[in-house]
Amino acid sequence: MKRNADIVRVSAHGGHSGQFCLHARDDLEQIVAAYAAAGFRWIGLTEHMPPMTDAGRYPDEVEAGLSAAQMQRRFADYVATARQLQQHYAGRMTIYVAMEGEFYAGVIPWIRRLRREYALDYIVGSVHHVHECCFDFSRADYARALELCGGYAELYCAYFDAQFAMLHHLQPAVVGHFDLIRLYDDAYPAHLLLPEVQQRIERNLAFIAANGLLLDFNTRALFKGAAEPYLSAPLLRRALDMGIDLVPGDDSHGVDSVAAGIDSAIAILKDNGYHCQWRTPCDSNVTPATNGV
Ligand SMILES: [Zn+2]
Ligand SMILES: [Zn+2]
Repeated sequence: MKRNADIVRVSAHGGHSGQFCLHARDDLEQIVAAYAAAGFRWIGLTEHMPPMTDAGRYPDEVEAGLSAAQMQRRFADYVATARQLQQHYAGRMTIYVAMEGEFYAGVIPWIRRLRREYALDYIVGSVHHVHECCFDFSRADYARALELCGGYAELYCAYFDAQFAMLHHLQPAVVGHFDLIRLYDDAYPAHLLLPEVQQRIERNLAFIAANGLLLDFNTRALFKGAAEPYLSAPLLRRALDMGIDLVPGDDSHGVDSVAAGIDSAIAILKDNGYHCQWRTPCDSNVTPATNGV
């Protein structure tokens, strides 16, 4: 992918590291160094939130015998390390210290508390669960969520309804991988077009537009071999029509995925007529024409 020399590289969602996340690799310092070497203007480090209780752990965390309390201490370490790196790189590359959230029963006060206690620069609002069932950890988990919902239409509707509730309660500066629910579904283009799904997508995008939230144009799907990033092309066009701002996110989980797909994402946005003058997650609702980012 040829690089657009006139458009700066940024990532609003990434920097998961093996130091602070079981399913990622490498140390945070190595990952940040890779971003700097790749010429990024700014990055948001968005490690996964620690679970509130042991019930909120992912299967690999349970298997590894990690407790929620241990993960909470590890998260404190993450923020401290990220703040040190933020200072170290000041003047060369702006680093935001952020967190990727979850959405399941009872999690909202916990996310708000973490945001406040750690004075996080912003939150990426993500949904990885429907009806308390995680769907993105593995293909088997996705199949379980599908069975629980009773069909693709129901699964997609449950996802976008959970996302709407998350948006309403949290108003995250960045909305993570908007259509992640298509992750293990080869027939997703048709499922995204179902009238009941379309209506929910429209509602959620309208909320994002009205509240000036940023969409994460997430290239993790490309890294894993999918044909297009989150959002899928028709949803991207609709978001742009509604005046929503987007920012690329590589969702890196190791040095090897730093910058992966970022230039492709920029090319897609440019082809769709987007200005690519990135608003940062901390410039809440400021128009790119005036903030000079
Ligand atoms: Zn992850
Ligand atoms: Zn995610």
